[in-house]
Amino acid sequence: SAFSDLGLAEWAIQTCKELGMRKPTPVQTHCIPKILAGRDVLGIAQTGSGKTAAFALPILNRLAEDPYGVFALAIAPTRELAFQLAEQFRALGSCLHLRCSVVVGGMDMITQGKALVSRPHVVVATPGRVKVLLEENPDIPKVFQRTKFLVLDEADRVLDVGFEEELRVIFQCLPKNRQTLLFSATMTSNLQTLLELSANKAYFYEA
Ligand code: AMP
Repeated sequence: SAFSDLGLAEWAIQTCKELGMRKPTPVQTHCIPKILAGRDVLGIAQTGSGKTAAFALPILNRLAEDPYGVFALAIAPTRELAFQLAEQFRALGSCLHLRCSVVVGGMDMITQGKALVSRPHVVVATPGRVKVLLEENPDIPKVFQRTKFLVLDEADRVLDVGFEEELRVIFQCLPKNRQTLLFSATMTSNLQTLLELSANKAYFYEA
């Protein structure tokens, strides 16, 4: 298949070409149309499979149709992964004037609070820091009132680290009608539990 078969806008297809992505990987072929159709997705896919673009492209595609912030919140298990994820969102969204903020531990919270209140289109965060901001700054929950997408990248690792309480707080602050996209290298029982917290029936993809 080709990127042009997946329901993406012309600008997104062009961006893929410019980034040297000549044809979609299996996780992209299977997940992009489901995400564009409004489904929740649980994808079991390794790093290197192209899973980041599998969720970032359809999110950006939807964002471009009605841009506002915060449109998507993506959670990663570590700071390093959060920065990598933000970099991919920025590369794929370069022609959208995408505003993307990273909210992770070890950096100034007041600056991060201000960044969130300015309503970037995409927020990439580690669970601990976003929980603290949601609980301590009364302006922050409002920022996520219309959020359309929640992504948990490397969800098995997020859960391994024991972030259940953080995720509960985050889930509560997001609208019920959002789409939830879980990507994980392995299928675990707590992933199943997490999936049940998301309202829609999910599409399951396993490489
Ligand atoms: P990921 O699995 O998301 O960590 O992606 C691994 C790497 O593959 C990233 O550097 C992407 O830029 C690259 N990539 C993603 N999709 C494609 C594609 N369809 N064709 C070629 N490279 C890709």
